[in-house]
Amino acid sequence: MKNDHELKALIFDIQSFSTHDGPGIRTNVFFKGCPLKCLWCSNPEGQKAIPELFYTKMKCVGCMRCAKACPHDAVSANNDPADVEKFGLVRHDRKKCNKCETHDCVRACFQNALSVTGEWMTVEDVMKKIRRDSPFYRNKGGVTVSGGDPLLYYEFVEKLLRTCHEEGINTVLESELCVPLKNLEPVAPHVDLFLTDLKIVDEQKHIEATGLSNRQAIENLRYIARNYPGKIFLRMPIIPGFTDADDNIHAIGAFCAENAISRVNILPYHKLGSTKHERLGGEYPMPDVKEPNDEKMRHIADIFQSHGVECKIN
Ligand code: SF4
Ligand code: SF4
Repeated sequence: MKNDHELKALIFDIQSFSTHDGPGIRTNVFFKGCPLKCLWCSNPEGQKAIPELFYTKMKCVGCMRCAKACPHDAVSANNDPADVEKFGLVRHDRKKCNKCETHDCVRACFQNALSVTGEWMTVEDVMKKIRRDSPFYRNKGGVTVSGGDPLLYYEFVEKLLRTCHEEGINTVLESELCVPLKNLEPVAPHVDLFLTDLKIVDEQKHIEATGLSNRQAIENLRYIARNYPGKIFLRMPIIPGFTDADDNIHAIGAFCAENAISRVNILPYHKLGSTKHERLGGEYPMPDVKEPNDEKMRHIADIFQSHGVECKIN
């Protein structure tokens, strides 16, 4: 166990006045690093547990100041017009950039086309921002830790949420729960609401879509349902071809009923994170998948309700 003052976590965003991830007005703290690699991820900057270079092609004028500043020869001009439209006027060697500690290119860019996502912060750094927002929480709001997956930094999160509780601040943990139980156990007593999901019940299909087995998540969900009854709120992304099959929805509905999970929100697939993949130097992995229509969403809600589970469409 590290001393409190040594605890640091990589945070990629802190959003004030959020109203989507828990009750009331909230401060959302996003942790960088996730054991899953969901193909449809809308926060791809939350996947790798390292600071990463963000490149905004629309702002880049191709001046090559970044190339001159880079000590690792990681920047090259992009001379293929088809590629320029997709990736911008310069390309970055991400293998080199992912190991870079100085990010000299960011300071060299006068167009603000470059930035770094991910900052190592202490619990006190984060608490300062939370305390600044706390007058707006009133009686319902509070703090939501999200990501990525905050449970990768469980010692940090335990301390952060414990401090919130000591100061009378409501806490929500948003996690995929694909971590060992030892990461969840110390954090759970300091959580007022668990926002989580179960995407795919079939283990093999879960591995194909996310890169990881769902066994640990299912075990952890059962652990929470047993030890913290009534505190789970399931939010399920409806991804055509991945999570939306009737047999999958029936299996999740039955799991909810079995574990007294009474509320589910279903979230229709969207492509809002697609440009972030490009800003990180990659490509969106599923450009051809279409958003589910209203009829499909209502059909899925009906399946949940047939298992006695209250289901809302977001
Ligand atoms: S992040 Fe580092 S390695 Fe990459 S372009 Fe910038 S200075 Fe070079
Ligand atoms: S990223 Fe910035 S410094 Fe690099 S070429 Fe584009 S505008 Fe110039």
